[in-house]
Amino acid sequence: MSDEKSDLVILYHRQPYEEVEGKDGRVVLKENTSPNGIVPTLKSFFGSADRGSWVAWKLAEDPADPTFERVITIDDSFGTYRVSRLPLTAEQVKSFYHITSKEAFWPILHSFKERYNYDPVDWPTFREVNWAFAEAAANEAAEGATVWVHDYNLWLAPGYIRQLRPDVNISFYHHTPFPAADMFNVLPWRKEIVESLLSCDSVGFHIPRYVDNFVSVVQSLLDVEVTQREKVRSEWINEGTALSERAMPTEIEYQGRRIKVSASPVGVNVDYIEEQANTAATDKQFAHIRDELNGRKMILSVGRTDYTKGGIEQLESFGRVLADNPGLRGKVRLLHVSVVANRNMTAYQEIQNELEQTAGRINGAFGTFEWQPIALISRAIPFTELVAYYRAADVAWITPLADGMNLVCKEYAAARVDGDGVLVLSEFAGAAVDLSAAVMANPFSARSMDRAILQALDMAEPERRDRMAALRARVRKFDINAWAQDQTDLFRATRRADTPPATEPAQ
Ligand code: UDP
Repeated sequence: MSDEKSDLVILYHRQPYEEVEGKDGRVVLKENTSPNGIVPTLKSFFGSADRGSWVAWKLAEDPADPTFERVITIDDSFGTYRVSRLPLTAEQVKSFYHITSKEAFWPILHSFKERYNYDPVDWPTFREVNWAFAEAAANEAAEGATVWVHDYNLWLAPGYIRQLRPDVNISFYHHTPFPAADMFNVLPWRKEIVESLLSCDSVGFHIPRYVDNFVSVVQSLLDVEVTQREKVRSEWINEGTALSERAMPTEIEYQGRRIKVSASPVGVNVDYIEEQANTAATDKQFAHIRDELNGRKMILSVGRTDYTKGGIEQLESFGRVLADNPGLRGKVRLLHVSVVANRNMTAYQEIQNELEQTAGRINGAFGTFEWQPIALISRAIPFTELVAYYRAADVAWITPLADGMNLVCKEYAAARVDGDGVLVLSEFAGAAVDLSAAVMANPFSARSMDRAILQALDMAEPERRDRMAALRARVRKFDINAWAQDQTDLFRATRRADTPPATEPAQ
């Protein structure tokens, strides 16, 4: 095989850089500014691979255009690697991404059966796009390479890659929740999806519950045996909370092949966040925010505008708390950052309208000329600025109805270099499993939501500091480097005979 081939091939639906249009109208590729986030983490694996490739899609007016550059070489601070771009038409992107992935898979993954939309799904297009990813991966991979596939958009890719390249090691990582059979099996393509996933050497998730759910799904559809089960590590048992598990399968067998199934929570880049929290610019912004607050307490909520994030339930809770506790009026402000990521999707536009209406109603009911209870921001705040808000917020209120992990809550703890601040966290965020020192809230219970935010606002400083110290220790222990190390260990453990050593991220 030619030495052009890569020993690590990453399949991720987004390209590993930002495309920015310059003044002259030419598109330039810009390295993502923040080293925090999944894309820079994945790229860091190229640092120690002899050769690395990334496969992603790119919008193309005419996929047959001979001037479309299929494969480019990128040289950035992570090293030199190839990017194989699949030219997809706007219709293909709409069908594969906005419809099949976001309207059919996303609601099921997050257990919102009522939002599941089957009708517009064009399954042949989903197969076609996944096949194109698989072909590109097969072209890039050296003999025995590790092919690392990310997320539900690419569920069918592993099965196709296995057909094309029986020699490679395939690892799959899910960044979302994974539901149990009662929910997952709503998808009519369930068997085809799990058969593809079972052609992997390892399938990874954030937390033990998702592993357990995945195994329940495969066992409901195929003859799969659990060949290994282990106790869950004690740090991940958050007694009595919704997503806690005490034991989980770690290996399964299907048609004579062993497949590792594992839980490893994605973390944040703690060193970088602490560094940002300590800059002079952050100090200045922090002082400005506290000045503006004028002695009032600040609650911060940050997330995407998505029904899974529970923004409306949270605003309703804030409204109730103000109604029931007149003493809080004029004393506390909620900064609710809800970023619209998919402006062209009606489901998200509806949520946005509802958030605006609810916030407007509460501001109208309680606000005065000097004090507005809720500041709603629908634009993304640059990460460096967000860190100043994290530092300034007395309480971070993070209460999704369902969330694979949730990184905002971990970023909040990492940014609290002063050791103060209270985190109120939904039991239904994957992060609740290891962040047991947060004040837990159940967003499906009005009483639990209201009680948790009141408890956080009332908490005395020694308790705040104790809890924050525990949160910060956890966030550091399971930071992004720990996740990367887990993945490297998995590549090694599932290595096929006679293959080159698996790669690990550059430190
Ligand atoms: N984020 C940001 N600016 C904003 C809102 C969010 O930079 O105004 C970032 C935030 O710092 C975090 C990410 O977006 O890193 C959201 O990740 P999370 O896992 O919490 O939610 P997701 O959107 O992936 O479901």
